Amino acid sequence: MDSSVRVAPAPRLGDPSTADETPVKLRAKDLTFFYGSFLALKDITLEIRANRVTAIIGPSGCGKSTLLQTFNRMYDLVPGAKARGSIRLNTEEVTTTPRIYDLRRRIGMVFQRPNPFPMSIYDNVAFGPRLLGWPAERIAKGVADSLRITGLWDEVSDRLHRSAASLSGGQQQRLCIARCLAVGPEVILMDEPCSALDPISTLRIEELIRKLRDRYTIVIVTHNMQQAKRVSDYTAFMLIEPFLRHGELIEFDRTDAIFNHPSDPRTRDYVDGKFG
Ligand code: ADP
Ligand code: MG
Repeated sequence: MDSSVRVAPAPRLGDPSTADETPVKLRAKDLTFFYGSFLALKDITLEIRANRVTAIIGPSGCGKSTLLQTFNRMYDLVPGAKARGSIRLNTEEVTTTPRIYDLRRRIGMVFQRPNPFPMSIYDNVAFGPRLLGWPAERIAKGVADSLRITGLWDEVSDRLHRSAASLSGGQQQRLCIARCLAVGPEVILMDEPCSALDPISTLRIEELIRKLRDRYTIVIVTHNMQQAKRVSDYTAFMLIEPFLRHGELIEFDRTDAIFNHPSDPRTRDYVDGKFG
């Protein structure tokens, strides 16, 4: 295996009792979410720190994707979906902002299945900047920078005008990340971004996540606990409430604490593989 795909271990953030110096980027407070009359999330409160990777783990159906989608109002597209409580991006209230396109520019999203648009590699990455009406020179530089950081430039700079469908699955996922970066986001949401990929492509994405952490705030949903350990600084553990069946946040802490000395016995059982 190419040594460049090895993922550096998450840096130790020091004693868990010491505060993290970085500011809070996203803050959910008493967030409750409904799909019509179905209560999907109840009373979620957590803080996502800037320039950190936060993983969301928990069994299928506990609301990980729903929580992720509240951060940039992806649920606006779902009839009957509504959020109560508050989510702030810096100081802006996400749940009520009228600046929805700006919100989605600032908080980009990468999905489980790579979803390149049916157009060329170049046009995929230039898509957002063109919608924003940026001048051609700025677009060209943005496309090149985004392809470089995702490692695609070295692989495809000689065929930027070929169809994005000609790329491998792992390259397509990195293209989707490049497309997200091209519009200058602050936060990147990733919903199980590696679950459709082979192990080598997965490691490349994980390596990229570690690299992007310097410039962006990243929230990643993963069902792979080893991946959460490898890439994240913080971990949120969610479960389905056993009687009412809504999703709830059980524990949120530094990743090291969640995996090595969790406070809640349910977290301990989950990270030990006793259920889920
Ligand atoms: P996870 O990502 O943890 O597997 P989801 O956030 O996808 O969980 O789903 C949480 C709950 O919300 C599940 O019970 C699921 O069936 C329900 N749900 C998800 N999307 C919708 C939707 N569009 N309409 C109605 N219910 C939904
Ligand atoms: Mg999901």
